[in-house]
Amino acid sequence: MVMTNFAAVPPMLRSIAIVGGGSAGWMAAAALAHAVGRNIAITLVESEEIGTVGVGEATIPPIRNFNGRLGIAEADFVRATRGSFKLGIEFVGWGAADSRYFHPFGEYGADFDRVALHQHWLRERLRGDPTPIDDYAMCWALARENRFGPPVDNPRDVRSTHSYAYHFDAGLYAAFLRRFAEARGVTRREGRIETVTRDGNTGHVSHVTLADGRAVAADFFVDCSGFRSLLLGETLGVEFIDWRQWLPCDRALAMPSANHGALTPYTRSTAHAAGWQWRIPLQHRTGNGHVYCSEFISDDEAAAVLQAHITGEALGDPRPLRFTAGRRRVAWAHNVVALGLAAGFLEPLESTSLHLIQTGIERLLLLLPDAAHNPLNAAEFNRATANEWERIRDFLILHYHANRRPEPFWQARVAAGVPDELAYKMKHFIGNGRLVSPQDELFRNPSWLAVYLGQGLVPVTYDRLLDARPQVDSARELAKLRGLMREAAASYPHHEEFLAQHCRATPPA
Ligand SMILES: Cc1cc2nc3c(=O)[nH]c(=O)nc-3n(C[C@H](O)[C@H](O)[C@H](O)COP(=O)(O)OP(=O)(O)OC[C@H]3O[C@@H](n4cnc5c(N)ncnc54)[C@H](O)[C@@H]3O)c2cc1C
Repeated sequence: MVMTNFAAVPPMLRSIAIVGGGSAGWMAAAALAHAVGRNIAITLVESEEIGTVGVGEATIPPIRNFNGRLGIAEADFVRATRGSFKLGIEFVGWGAADSRYFHPFGEYGADFDRVALHQHWLRERLRGDPTPIDDYAMCWALARENRFGPPVDNPRDVRSTHSYAYHFDAGLYAAFLRRFAEARGVTRREGRIETVTRDGNTGHVSHVTLADGRAVAADFFVDCSGFRSLLLGETLGVEFIDWRQWLPCDRALAMPSANHGALTPYTRSTAHAAGWQWRIPLQHRTGNGHVYCSEFISDDEAAAVLQAHITGEALGDPRPLRFTAGRRRVAWAHNVVALGLAAGFLEPLESTSLHLIQTGIERLLLLLPDAAHNPLNAAEFNRATANEWERIRDFLILHYHANRRPEPFWQARVAAGVPDELAYKMKHFIGNGRLVSPQDELFRNPSWLAVYLGQGLVPVTYDRLLDARPQVDSARELAKLRGLMREAAASYPHHEEFLAQHCRATPPA
């Protein structure tokens, strides 16, 4: 082993500047302040005049790890963001106009054999059992009755097989993280950045200058400037890879409404003729939005569709947003790493954007550079990021491609085909129900299973290992499991009762 002289070790970073104060900026500020804020000065620049995108209200379970690492107590967090709990997503009209399925967080059932539960289910289905796969997910057992409670620790208990995430108010989330970050020493600078200056020798960004002439210099920059990608895209010229061929939705209209009916512990996604609509229940209102493809529907028509499908009184006019699916070729170039919309965009179909910010921050901490800016850090960051984005992209494409809807928009999704890796996975599933998703993918087997089956892909056969093994009475075991889940679900409180008991938000002043 070659040991270098300690004196030859490059100095560490002294300062990090975060450009942008949307969810990405404040998530980065909070996490960096918590991890390295005692030794590295952290400044965040944001412009109230420009504002934030202001959406991003549904999440996936790993956000609990993000909060956990920061030491944020769940009840405080849910209360402060007027949040609610999320057990998964109900997809309405996606596979076919009259279909419905649930993408649960957590597992299907509890294994009773070395062969996966869904293979038993497939065999029984071929024998004529019509029970949907949803009936084996503890998340759905709870969700369909609007019940909620955390899982138990005992892996032998069926109540350990579900997981959960949150819905929350995006503005309150950023404000919550801002308080957290500022309390840990992050300096906030208000103002519009007018120019970005690069070092003449290295090409690194040296400082940004605000409209009032103040300069913010740093050793390292985190670009959280939103769709504009002020540092990575505009200044460093990193190109955007466009994924519209597979994910062509390019606009959304967002509109809150008053709560109506039971507070569902899940997001609902309803397919429409040229896109889909989200419904996200919070304690104080419901978030709604129509994501659509402008090639197939006008803005006025899209607004009419949204308004026609809202339950509860509308609380404002539809707010338009425009985007393009894709990512920057690299997320880290020179001394700039982009997070959030500055790095790319994947539509909120599976609530993955805040998660990608979270993993970007975790990866940055794993690969934190020093003043020498070894390009290997950026190379590894970019390799892992590209892989992560592309695998999530493929999962989203599956929702669109595997459909039996008649409208031109949906037929065009079938005709558009899929990327090779997704085609390979789909072949395995259709061939014999096998799920081929590597360990490092965000979406694991239960998620793929939910969406394959929900979108109407049915395997030709099942894993024949089942028939080569001592007979397990699949029908009996599956029926037992359904009974156990029904009983277990009944022992949980209703979602609203749980919120009232543990994290009821105080009404707005
Ligand atoms: C329709 C839609 C629905 C979504 N739903 C979800 C969801 O359910 N779940 C999910 O996880 N994600 C969702 N997202 C994504 C999510 O909203 C974003 O990932 C998240 O809000 C992060 O945004 P951001 O911080 O990158 O950008 P922004 O919120 O746009 O923030 C950009 C920041 O940069 C600042 N800025 C820009 N230019 C300058 C300048 N020149 N000078 C100073 N400051 C500047 C702005 O003031 C602002 O503070 C959704 C996105 C869209 C479009």
